Amino acid sequence: MVTRCNSARFILLFRYMESAEVRKKFLEFFKERGHTILPSASLVPENDSTTLFTGSGMQPLVPYLLGQPHPAGKRLANSQKSFRAEDIDEVGDNRHTTFFEMLGNWSFGDYWKQEQLPWLFEFLTKEIKLKPENLYVTVFSGGKDLAADNESIEIWKKLFATKKIPTEYIEVNTEHEASEKGMQPGQRIFGYGVEKNWWSRAGLPSKMPAGEPGGPDSEVFYDFGTPHDTKFGKKCHPNCDCGRFLEIGNSVFMEYKKKADGTFEKLKQRNVDFGGGLERITAASNNDPDIFHVDVFKKMSEALAVDPNDEEALRKDRIIFDHIRAAVFLIADGVLPSNKGRGYVVRKTLRRAALFSRAAKTDRAWLKKVIQAVISSYRGVYGDIEAAADNILKTISGEFEKFSATLDEGLKEFHKRIASGKITSKDAFDLYQSYGFPWEVTKELAQAAGILLIGMDAGFETEFQKHQDISRTASAGTFKGGLADHSERTTRLHTAHHLLLRALQIVLGPEVKQRGSNITSERLRLDFAYDGKMTDEQKKKVEKIVNDKIKENMPVIRSEMSREEAEKLNAEHEFGQKYPDRVSVYSIGPMSATVQNPEFAEAFSIEFCGGPHVARTGEIGPFKIVKEEAVSAGVRRIRGTLDQG
Ligand SMILES: [Zn+2]
Ligand SMILES: [Zn+2]
Repeated sequence: MVTRCNSARFILLFRYMESAEVRKKFLEFFKERGHTILPSASLVPENDSTTLFTGSGMQPLVPYLLGQPHPAGKRLANSQKSFRAEDIDEVGDNRHTTFFEMLGNWSFGDYWKQEQLPWLFEFLTKEIKLKPENLYVTVFSGGKDLAADNESIEIWKKLFATKKIPTEYIEVNTEHEASEKGMQPGQRIFGYGVEKNWWSRAGLPSKMPAGEPGGPDSEVFYDFGTPHDTKFGKKCHPNCDCGRFLEIGNSVFMEYKKKADGTFEKLKQRNVDFGGGLERITAASNNDPDIFHVDVFKKMSEALAVDPNDEEALRKDRIIFDHIRAAVFLIADGVLPSNKGRGYVVRKTLRRAALFSRAAKTDRAWLKKVIQAVISSYRGVYGDIEAAADNILKTISGEFEKFSATLDEGLKEFHKRIASGKITSKDAFDLYQSYGFPWEVTKELAQAAGILLIGMDAGFETEFQKHQDISRTASAGTFKGGLADHSERTTRLHTAHHLLLRALQIVLGPEVKQRGSNITSERLRLDFAYDGKMTDEQKKKVEKIVNDKIKENMPVIRSEMSREEAEKLNAEHEFGQKYPDRVSVYSIGPMSATVQNPEFAEAFSIEFCGGPHVARTGEIGPFKIVKEEAVSAGVRRIRGTLDQG
């Protein structure tokens, strides 16, 4: 009787925290501490040719971490939509997803470790109510010419002491060492070396070029208390992958710069960059290691009637949920399924989802319900998703239809080819070309059939490259080096891009609006809304205007202002992009053109833009249009390049 009474009370008191609540608490917490809240940037990076997708909150902020002043100030926070295509093979367990939201806060030369770590600890233990005894932290234990992060160690010791938790620091340096030593009672702060707790764009300190910034980081892990699995190493430790510990956040302290002689000096502007997985923090708040139990996935699983006891079915359903949610967000950001670049990644995720849903779900009513569960979960947070709901439904259903038509035939062909007990790169490519099987689908099928594919990724990639112009960045690992290319040539093309948009409006009419852009050091690409094909004469005119403006050697001026002010000036912005309250604007125009001056309106071009740009248009050099073509109904694409250098 007493037991029943207690358990009923427990159910009443314990309620699952929803991710929307965690997101809101995080943003409010940092707003109260002087941070400006930025809207999430698009999943399609702007002016960044080195990576296909936005994979972290820090990625769009790199120019500011490198020293450029941010118009919204020195303290920022947001929840950033992130997509990591390279994690696609990991999806299926209880913690990996390709799409996720990353909670982030930043200090650009403002506060430092003694604020960041206590704030984070307060947020996790007070706002999210994680039990401090379930939190474990890692810090940098030092490396060649680099000291251990003793500052962070001391701060963590004090923080845990306030909760009367023993705080022994143990140096383990490598995962191997950690797994050999295991954990003793009282050990709370773990020192790992350069492989685990060092951050730079180039990776390890030894790989950093001279002038490159980097620094130690400190990760927070949540302990679910599940038993260790020796498949993952001798003994458990915070970085063990067995499932007991989940990394929920990482504070990067950018404080060093590499010198030409290979040693390090302190940076003038020290930055803090924190990133934490929204879904992971939500899972920790519910003390449930399965992130597929957080609200959005729970809603999706209601539409599918998942059997929690059938492990293989559960794995497939997690893949379906993750991939469909990712596709919803990508399509909302304008990425449509195709055979190239980003579009191919969306196609791949949807085809994998179709493959895994094939057996039991011949009736498609579930698909609509699953998509609608995603859309309704983000209502009010990401308005663009709701606005694009019809298009999303149509696009995903269409992809499923198309793939289903060839799926069964393809499966027959697959089984015929593996009858010999192996499958070659050529087989995989044939399946791709004739039946639309992405490489990942073939790999999945081969593994399910017990066939090991060692080194096949490269083989397939080679076959693929022979036939297709797929961006190199579509393959694994783009995130790690995935940062803006700010080379001199890319910068010149970026300024030319602004001139080109304005020239198109002059020649084709003011209704011409930018719909997408991509700039590499080789060429620029500008997508714009316009009905009809450009004539040769129009192209010549546009090219001439751009080159005239280059010859005029006009100044390129950066200003900061409120979004309203920029909108009043009719500054160009890309369709569907969201901007913060304070924005950076680039104008190309007469010398006197500054925001304080009414002549600003006479500038040749004004755009919402983070830069970077050349100082004067003369630096661009001769520009030419290479190609003009249709991308989709009502959207044209122009490619242009520089004549020399
Ligand atoms: Zn373990
Ligand atoms: Zn720009």
